[in-house]
Formats: sequence, structure tokens, C-alpha cells
Amino acid sequence: MKKIIAYLIFISLVFSCSNEKEQIIPIEFSRYVDMFFEEGNQRGLNVNLSDIDLELRFGTQSGTIAATCSQRDNVIMIDEAKWNEMSEEKKTWLIFHELGHCVLDREHRNDRTNNDDCISIMRGAEDNFDCSANLYSSKWWDYYLDELFDQGVLFSDRLELFDNYYTINLTTDVIRVDTISKEFIFDAIEFSQYNNFRIDFEFINWNTDNNFVLFNFGNIGFGNCDTCTDVNVQITANGGNVVYYQNVEGSIQFNSNVKLTIRKKGSDLLFFVNERFVHAFEEDLWSGNKIFSKYFDEPIQMKLAIDELE
Ligand SMILES: [Zn+2]
Repeated sequence: MKKIIAYLIFISLVFSCSNEKEQIIPIEFSRYVDMFFEEGNQRGLNVNLSDIDLELRFGTQSGTIAATCSQRDNVIMIDEAKWNEMSEEKKTWLIFHELGHCVLDREHRNDRTNNDDCISIMRGAEDNFDCSANLYSSKWWDYYLDELFDQGVLFSDRLELFDNYYTINLTTDVIRVDTISKEFIFDAIEFSQYNNFRIDFEFINWNTDNNFVLFNFGNIGFGNCDTCTDVNVQITANGGNVVYYQNVEGSIQFNSNVKLTIRKKGSDLLFFVNERFVHAFEEDLWSGNKIFSKYFDEPIQMKLAIDELE
């Protein structure tokens, strides 16, 4: 018996003396965790995975919560069903967010731009806070990662995406169409011949029985809903995958004519509603030349104007 007690003491001494940290990272999560430390150390984090205790595991989370981090023991619990539904970008965002709590000791940062873009991966949902995460833009990811590891990085210093509808020089009037129809389809232009261009799609007196307008440009969908209370402006890519949304809450007032504009400028696509800038992302998200409206219940007047820009 004495021997056993001595052995136990010896074992506990060994454990208390050694400073071994334990990491339990299932294979599903390991690449995101590795990426976090890689990105962090490129930005001066100076912490390696082996320096900390960390466990990630699947579990069940209630409501809209996808994961939690227990900062007491550095255990991250991820809802398996929600995880399996997520795109790569959303998975990266989720793991980086939780590691932001567990590794960086960060709290939530519920800030957004005037156009409802999330300012931080560390956004929460307190008091119904909502914002649009720019998951599909490499420019935004660079900014988000810089901000994650250094809160002093300012959005305004990093991204020059805001633009004025009027600060352009039109060079060629490419096409003008004015029609009254339930649906409008146009696919006569190969846009790759232009470096810069502008597409104005205007819906006249549309606020009848239809509560929203939408036109597609190739794989991109651009819609506006005047009467919706939650999401008013929405941009989708590749079959309805939402890449941007804005909850206007009175910050944009529309009239009964709505003009949706997509402008290509350099390597960016810029989006305007009634000549007000709402969003931009890189052109690599866009493919295809076909322009078409949503199908309306009744004929409405639509105007299409395409111009080449300097
Ligand atoms: Zn959180």
C-alpha cells in the first residue's frame, strides 16, 4: 500500500512539475485550427497550438447558436448538424470566432459599417445585433484577420470600397431598352470586351402587388425589397447563395421607382440602389453575361441602360 501511495505521489509530482499542455482536435477541425495559428503568427501572435490547452468537440447547441467556447477550460463545442450545413468560409469564420474567445480572450464586437458590413469576426448577436459578413471577398478576409489579431486595425484605413455613383466618365452608350413586360431577358453582350462598365436596371412604379424587385447578371442576383422589415437589399451568387444583405432600418428610403446598378471598376463590382452605394466585392465572384429580371405577376415597365466606362 505504501508503495502505491508513493507511486501516486510520484506520478502527481511528475504531472505538476511538467507543463504539458493538452490538445484534443478532431480531424474535422484541425485544418481551421492550424490556419488560425498560421494567420495569427504571421501577424505577431507568438503563440503555438502546443502552448495551450485546447479541446474542440461536437455537441448540440440550441437556437441559432452554432458553437460556444468555455474560456475556463478552453473547450469549444460545435453543433454537428449546423456544422455539416456550412460552407468552407462559414466554417473558417466559426472556428476563428471561437478561437478569438478562447485563445485571444476577445469579447464580442458588435460594430458594422453604414452599409451593414460586419466590422469583425468577433460579432455577436446581443440585442438582436445583425450584420453582413463578407465571407466571399479576399480583401475583406485580409481585413478581418488583421482586425481579429489586432483590434486597433481600422476598417476605414483598409478598404476603399465606397464610391460615388456620379464620379465616373461614360465613354460609350452600349444599349438602351425600355419595355413593359412580366419578365425581361437580355443576353446580347459579351462583357469581357469591356474593362469597366455600368448596368442600370430600372423598375418603374413597381410597387404594385409585387413587394420586391430583382435582376440577375450572370450568376449574380441583385434585389431590393421596399416593404420588407428584415432584409431590404440582397446580393446572391451561384443560385441564391447570399453574399451580402442589408437591413435598412430607415437608413435608405426608396421611392416607387427603383434603379439597381452594377458597376465594374477595375477588379471590383460595385452595387448601388437608387444611386446610393451599398456594396462592393471582387469581380471573381461573377460569371456569365445574361441579364434578366425576376418574373412579375403583372407587366411592369423596366429600363435597361448599359454604358462602357473609362
Ligand atoms: Zn462569440
